[in-house]
Amino acid sequence: MAQRSGTGGRATDLSSCPAFPSALESNVKYLLAFTLAAACATAAAASTETRIPDAAVRAAEQLRDRAMNDDTAYKLVEGLTTEIGPRLAAGDNDARAREWVIAKFKALGFDKVYTEPVTYPKWVRRHESGSIVAPFPQNLVLTALGHSFATPTGGLTAEVVHFDSLDALKAADPSAIKGRIVYVGARMHRYKDGRDYGIGSPIRTQGPVIAASKGAAAFILRSAGTDATDRIAHTGVTGFADAKANGIPAAALSNPDADQLERILAYGKPVTVKLDLDVGFEGDYTGANVIGEVTGKKHPDQIVDIGGHLDSWDPGTGAIDDAAGVAIAAAAAHLIAQLPQRPDRTIRVIAFANEEAGLYGGKAYAEAHAKEVARHVLGSESDFGAAPVWRFSASVKPEARKAIAQIADVLKPIGVEYAADRSGGGGSDLSQMHAKGMAALSIGQDGTHYFDIHHTSNDTLDKIVPKEIAQNAAVYAVYAYMAAQAEGDFGSAPGAFKNDKDED
Ligand code: ZN
Ligand code: ZN
Repeated sequence: MAQRSGTGGRATDLSSCPAFPSALESNVKYLLAFTLAAACATAAAASTETRIPDAAVRAAEQLRDRAMNDDTAYKLVEGLTTEIGPRLAAGDNDARAREWVIAKFKALGFDKVYTEPVTYPKWVRRHESGSIVAPFPQNLVLTALGHSFATPTGGLTAEVVHFDSLDALKAADPSAIKGRIVYVGARMHRYKDGRDYGIGSPIRTQGPVIAASKGAAAFILRSAGTDATDRIAHTGVTGFADAKANGIPAAALSNPDADQLERILAYGKPVTVKLDLDVGFEGDYTGANVIGEVTGKKHPDQIVDIGGHLDSWDPGTGAIDDAAGVAIAAAAAHLIAQLPQRPDRTIRVIAFANEEAGLYGGKAYAEAHAKEVARHVLGSESDFGAAPVWRFSASVKPEARKAIAQIADVLKPIGVEYAADRSGGGGSDLSQMHAKGMAALSIGQDGTHYFDIHHTSNDTLDKIVPKEIAQNAAVYAVYAYMAAQAEGDFGSAPGAFKNDKDED
């Protein structure tokens, strides 16, 4: 069972608090009694507040300082991206990456290492190409979206119909779309919080589904990326769940190729494009979430969840997305495991399977552990690169806010702001456990350049700065350790946080 409020909180002497008087002889006496009762109620509430003991705060400060100079996280990203490389879910490297992480978790000194099965569709990319056929023939740089359907053998040629937003596509009459290649060309701009992914991601995931429902032959989009001048395309999953979907071929153009297509469309003549995408579904595949634990000495069955996802898209080696996340979480747990004593609660590192094609690992984990959600005291996954963490926020019960502020105090010297007015969503896969009622943080890396690289052939080790990923590991080590040592819980319970607004 989760440690409920009051079982370990600050000791408050309530012995002077009387039972509420049953008979009142005068208004004055009534008022006095009422005032005393109110004061005692406040004291009782204070005693239920979650608190991190002073000794744990001091230990967390030392852990932070050690982590800032530790290269474990960088070395893990280097190893995974070099020795395994791209990790497309259900591809050959899916199993290899799993074996690699199992061996690494054991070498890092975790007390338990095990896997939990996750089943998902196998989707493969064999070859892909595209070109403008008329009026100005030339090749296009593009990449098929994950879960795209194939073009007929030899390719598909059709006229392009242009929309500048998803809403314009939604509003379009099917007669303007039938048999054509739909192109949606919305630009994303750089922001520290990466907010424009909220424009690019829905076009990529929903656009092809809407286009298919209106009879389109195929779908192309301006890449969901912020690199305006790199001639590289950004892949990522689209919304066809499996081979049974009403799917069409779907691909992303590099930003300069999208510019070129739009210039040509501006001539006002019919524009014809050829797509040749040899991709598609090949049945189901069973992979696994890989789990490593540092077992708690006082409450081994109470868990702090941290992690990242082990799969990546195939054009790059998945350094920022998301070898970094697995490495940050594993390095944090490793640093905690090196302390003289095991933490009070268990620190659990999860390397999730197939996040990219639709949170398969996160959903399987949440289903497998839904009944024990109250024992998952706090969780957050790292899946936004390895640039410095600049902000964090939390979804916890009100009585745990001061404990979160204690964590914030330890993180402040390494550049992390506490956004007390925002909620916390737990990150990509762990959002699913948060949805079941797990208290959660959102830990935000500086995302200014994240979407320059995201899901491209440029997602490689050279984008990771050793000092910056060390700061990430420091943040995760501090939060996980302090959550493990907290006296009192953070409010995890079935169905808790249902009314939180969606978070990053
Ligand atoms: Zn990711
Ligand atoms: Zn991704």
